[in-house]
Amino acid sequence: MVECLNCGERRQVPEHECPRCTYVGWASVAELNESLRQKLRDRVLASRRIRAAN
Ligand SMILES: [Zn+2]
Repeated sequence: MVECLNCGERRQVPEHECPRCTYVGWASVAELNESLRQKLRDRVLASRRIRAAN
């Protein structure tokens, strides 16, 4: 089972992009915990800010 790093959608198999939010980034649910989720969210937001600034 994997979870979308953007919206949390869960799938049995990683797809090319999330069917719900179209984000491409999956992590194994078994490897995720709340602190890792928070780090990933921070990273996603930071990269969005960088793209927006450019
Ligand atoms: Zn998603």
